[in-house]
Amino acid sequence: MPGWVKINEDWVSWIMTRLGQNFTCPLCQSTHQLPVKRIVHSPGALNKTEEFVTQLFSSRQKAAVLSDEITHQVAGRTVEEKISALRPVTSVILTPENEERLSTREEYLNYLLTRITGCSLLVTVGSGTITDLGKYAGEVARIPVLCIATAASMNGYTSGVAAIFQNQVKLAIPVKPALGVLIDSDIINSAPLILTQAGFADSLARRLANADWYLGSLLTGEKYCPLPGLLVEQIERKHFLSGRLIRNGEPAGANLVMEALILGGLAMVIAGSSAPASGGEHLISHFWDMYAHQEKRVLFAYHGLQVGLGCLITARIYDRLKELTLAEILLRLKTHQVPVEDELKELFSLFPFAQKYIKTQWEQKQKALALVRSRLVDCWEKLVQQVFPEVHASRQLKETLSQAGCPVYPSEISLPVGLARKALKLARYIRNRLTILDIAAELGILQEIEPEIESTP
Ligand SMILES: [Zn+2]
Ligand SMILES: [Zn+2]
Repeated sequence: MPGWVKINEDWVSWIMTRLGQNFTCPLCQSTHQLPVKRIVHSPGALNKTEEFVTQLFSSRQKAAVLSDEITHQVAGRTVEEKISALRPVTSVILTPENEERLSTREEYLNYLLTRITGCSLLVTVGSGTITDLGKYAGEVARIPVLCIATAASMNGYTSGVAAIFQNQVKLAIPVKPALGVLIDSDIINSAPLILTQAGFADSLARRLANADWYLGSLLTGEKYCPLPGLLVEQIERKHFLSGRLIRNGEPAGANLVMEALILGGLAMVIAGSSAPASGGEHLISHFWDMYAHQEKRVLFAYHGLQVGLGCLITARIYDRLKELTLAEILLRLKTHQVPVEDELKELFSLFPFAQKYIKTQWEQKQKALALVRSRLVDCWEKLVQQVFPEVHASRQLKETLSQAGCPVYPSEISLPVGLARKALKLARYIRNRLTILDIAAELGILQEIEPEIESTP
């Protein structure tokens, strides 16, 4: 089975008839699970909250509604009113403590867990942080979660992953996906533009992440299925060209972004991991988050905007790899030595609290790295033919991000260029997942690209 099959089929309609089911995949023949039962995305959908909740959760037991101060105003209050007609409701409104913006820190989580004791359902009303906290709390408390989206800012509404800070490390933790997701496009369209821009940039990671996943599977034999990628491809072709719509705050732009994000989340559920939507570019963003968290400062930017910058960095690596010949690959593998000890030392001095965690992740990656060294030459032709053509050139990505008004230089999010460059070199150590950053490190490409990361135009 070739990795990037292009079967002329409407995969989106196909998958929507399989919500809430386990199904045999026509592409990889394994069984995929899709526990998300219902997705409602329409104008005025908030008015249907009661029906949406009751269809998925008919019990009259107590439900908790989680929001923050802003999303409570936008939709949380309405949601509470609507569902309290049928069952008792606990209202949980989070406010930032000792920080400018809410984050997925354990303190909030512990508070949330005490507040939802005795509740049989958790309804989240918000975007990234609220959704991730809610999905994780639902997992810990073993109660179902429904998500009501307030911005097209990230793909977590439909995904089975929650990004949570634990012991100061940001972890992508597998959780049960929401039972249902409700999106009122009127609310999404009136969300601050920067949130839609963040969602747009986050969804641009899809091709790069999927390429990382596929090349990892070619080199290590890890399972890969083309369905998650194909699912998002259809909508992505349209939304890749919609930068201007987004910048101008047009409803069509926000809706396209939201559709791409919904499908991106489902793609992760089908894959059973975040691999189809999160590769080297996400590691780079997580690295910056870890740094900000340690320095006790506000995150440099919304997740998606940081990921957009991460995409430009990893796309540059792909640009460079596309230029290399097999003879050069052979020579580089023979002659280049990665200064692992020095780099780990540098990383530990940056993140002393995370030494143990990093050591474990790095150890877990050794087997895959050995396979990269022994199999890269044999696999090279396949990578050139099947993986590289799927990735946009960095120049093209930059243009697309700029059209949408997203940052393309570190200075635009007040990120020191030194830290941007450090992430290029060191982010690969913070997670056991093999990405393009590892391939580039083995070939000595990272240090060649480092000076090309510029703070400003
Ligand atoms: Zn499959
Ligand atoms: Zn993301």
